[in-house]
Amino acid sequence: MIPLAIAVPADLAELQAAIVSWRTPVRYLAGGTDMLIAGRALPEAGLLVDITRVADMALISTDGSDICIGAATTVAALASHSGLRARLPALCEAAAQCGSVQIRNRATIGGNIANAAPAADLMPVLTVVGARLRLIGQDGTQSEIPLGDYSPAHGLITDVTMQAGGLLQRSAFVKLGPRQDLAISRLNLALAAEFHDGCFGAVRIAAGALSPAPLILSFAAAALSGHKLEVAVLRNFLSALTAEVDAAIPGRNSQLYKRRAIAGVGLDLIAQALGLSPRDRLFEEAVE
Ligand SMILES: Cc1cc2nc3c(=O)[nH]c(=O)nc-3n(C[C@H](O)[C@H](O)[C@H](O)COP(=O)(O)OP(=O)(O)OC[C@H]3O[C@@H](n4cnc5c(N)ncnc54)[C@H](O)[C@@H]3O)c2cc1C
Repeated sequence: MIPLAIAVPADLAELQAAIVSWRTPVRYLAGGTDMLIAGRALPEAGLLVDITRVADMALISTDGSDICIGAATTVAALASHSGLRARLPALCEAAAQCGSVQIRNRATIGGNIANAAPAADLMPVLTVVGARLRLIGQDGTQSEIPLGDYSPAHGLITDVTMQAGGLLQRSAFVKLGPRQDLAISRLNLALAAEFHDGCFGAVRIAAGALSPAPLILSFAAAALSGHKLEVAVLRNFLSALTAEVDAAIPGRNSQLYKRRAIAGVGLDLIAQALGLSPRDRLFEEAVE
């Protein structure tokens, strides 16, 4: 067996050259918070490419019409980026709730996507804004695909892009974990929406930890879209959320818990998106 080789490229050209020079499998190491935890099988042969030193792979660009985030950007950098908070607060919120300070300082957006855990916190937000991934394949060719099409066989994620058309005026992310800090989501929801004159326009909602990949909740979104923010509409929204849980995990042990939990998470999501208190009378009446 050829022993494991390690490459630490300094820029994209070096990275691309390292990838194409190997016929055996190439694996990537970013923050290592998923790959290096105890019990995981680590690569023993082939090439392991450390992408954390690649210039320009940890940049966040929010000044153009699209948002572009390098795949090696840490979750901590996402959480504290003021330009990103102004345009997509849900992604900052999701990043701020990932793991602990130590995890956020190492963990990257590319690792969160490639690891593809059902409860990954960044994924529902990236789903509702229609994120796309720029890639370098094992043969060195570059391509771009929708987030939902990605599998590790596609190779290295270099950037995550969010086109202006997918970035709606409001966004929010709410996570429910077993405790306040350092908790993997039992359920999380992300929303992107238009809201004008007390009325919802386009609405997109996705849930994590209800299916292997983020689940688009189209019935719940339809319950809001085109409607005014009022008690009857919120009640329809809650019924739709419950039905989405029943359809996603019928008969699962967690079904009862999640169909109750999603109501509270859903109302918190709307409150956060619209800058309202979750204890607003409107929300209390919706659950009475
Ligand atoms: C204690 C603890 C708490 C955690 N809490 C949370 C949490 O609250 N929310 C959450 O979402 N996650 C959480 N995680 C999971 C983890 O921190 C995230 O998934 C993180 O974003 C992974 O990024 P990384 O850079 O560390 O990935 P790595 O461990 O470096 O890599 C993970 C996988 O992705 C591949 N990979 C990495 N970068 C790329 C790339 N650019 N292109 C292609 N493949 C790539 C690697 O080859 C590997 O297979 C937690 C983990 C731990 C250990």
